[in-house]
Amino acid sequence: MTDTTSCQSPALDDASLSADEARQRMLDSVAPITHAEKVPVRNALGRILAADVIAPYDVPAHDNSAMDGYAVRFESLASDGETALSVVGSAFAGNAFSGLVGRGQAVRIMTGAVLPAGADTVVVQEVTRVTGNTVFVPAGQKQGQNTRRAGEDLARNAIALPAGKRLGPAELGLIASLGIAELSVRRRLRVAFFSTGDELASIGSPLAPGEIYDSNRYTLYGLLTRLGAEIIDLGVVPDRAEALEAALREAAEIADAIITTGGVSVGEADFIREILARLGHIGFWKLKIKPGRPMAFGRIGHAWLFGLPGNPVSVMVSYAQFALDALLRLSGVDPLPVRPLLPVAAANAIRKQPGRREYLRGRVTEVDGRWQVFTLPHQGSGILRSMSEANCLVVLSEACAGVQPGEAVDVQLFDGLY
Ligand code: AMP
Ligand code: MG
Repeated sequence: MTDTTSCQSPALDDASLSADEARQRMLDSVAPITHAEKVPVRNALGRILAADVIAPYDVPAHDNSAMDGYAVRFESLASDGETALSVVGSAFAGNAFSGLVGRGQAVRIMTGAVLPAGADTVVVQEVTRVTGNTVFVPAGQKQGQNTRRAGEDLARNAIALPAGKRLGPAELGLIASLGIAELSVRRRLRVAFFSTGDELASIGSPLAPGEIYDSNRYTLYGLLTRLGAEIIDLGVVPDRAEALEAALREAAEIADAIITTGGVSVGEADFIREILARLGHIGFWKLKIKPGRPMAFGRIGHAWLFGLPGNPVSVMVSYAQFALDALLRLSGVDPLPVRPLLPVAAANAIRKQPGRREYLRGRVTEVDGRWQVFTLPHQGSGILRSMSEANCLVVLSEACAGVQPGEAVDVQLFDGLY
């Protein structure tokens, strides 16, 4: 751990932390993996740049036309009335006009075509009138109009994309526009995960009395696949000391991060606390939030452990609010994504006690031309269906003591979280 935070410090263990403190402690603790590898552009989606991408030449490479029309020399145009120009050729995208545009001349030009020598201005075809080889241009044109300048998107040797950037569709296109076929990206983060609980059965086997199917591993599979991690599914681990210890040891050997679900609530934490204390430096936190109050965080060997609660909704909330950005930082993302909280009018009243931050499943919906957010009726932290019906989390601050219909609440859209 870094000096700013130590899971060994007594203050961290059993700490009652605000959501902001917990998030900051995690972010301050983790440092990015450094190993890089080369991948072709198409395999780079979701990957993180290990080095700046430098523009090898100007983009666009030449001055060119932004419109279909006529390339002219601005000084040819009269300040009032029409100017008659003789059309001396044409320029198409990918097929330039090789001559010079002189005074009194024009070249028919298409969008994207290289601006011919001598021309500095493009007149859109809609305002012109053509008779034979003569084009008539009305007054009121501006010098340089409808042209795109060489290097206006990117100048040669400029940083096109900085190291730490996570590559999305725009970045893949931008990289291709530079003619770059291969990139240096951080290696994928290796994340091992397992579920804990004697009551858990895996899909494909029938349920014995009292058992439930393990859903958390499937949710985590989805979350971590979206994250772009290399995932290592270690299955279900029963609530037995030797089994847990073996799973944690194995995970810490092979992964950069370990995510466990279950076993961190008051009744169960004592049991794994002893194992974790033996294996590494782990703090148990009681977060001032709902849902997802208990959580463990710390280090086993070289691996970071995120001990999430067992309830399926708590898993998703604590993943998004705490683990996600720590995992992104570990992966090398820099700066971390901005996650706006958007104010939206509450469609319904919401009850809340002050003192903790609450995350409610909501649906942002347009009603009569106005965007509103409804909180879903079933907010139990075991009710995963409402996570599927929701499109946002309504985030109520610690100080909030309830919401009246029409009042603005902060909303965090699922986009980018899940
Ligand atoms: P725990 O944190 O282990 O006390 O679990 C809290 C609740 O979440 C209990 O009702 C568990 O049965 C449930 N739970 C724990 N792990 C899972 C899982 N992997 N899939 C579905 N439910 C779970
Ligand atoms: Mg359990």
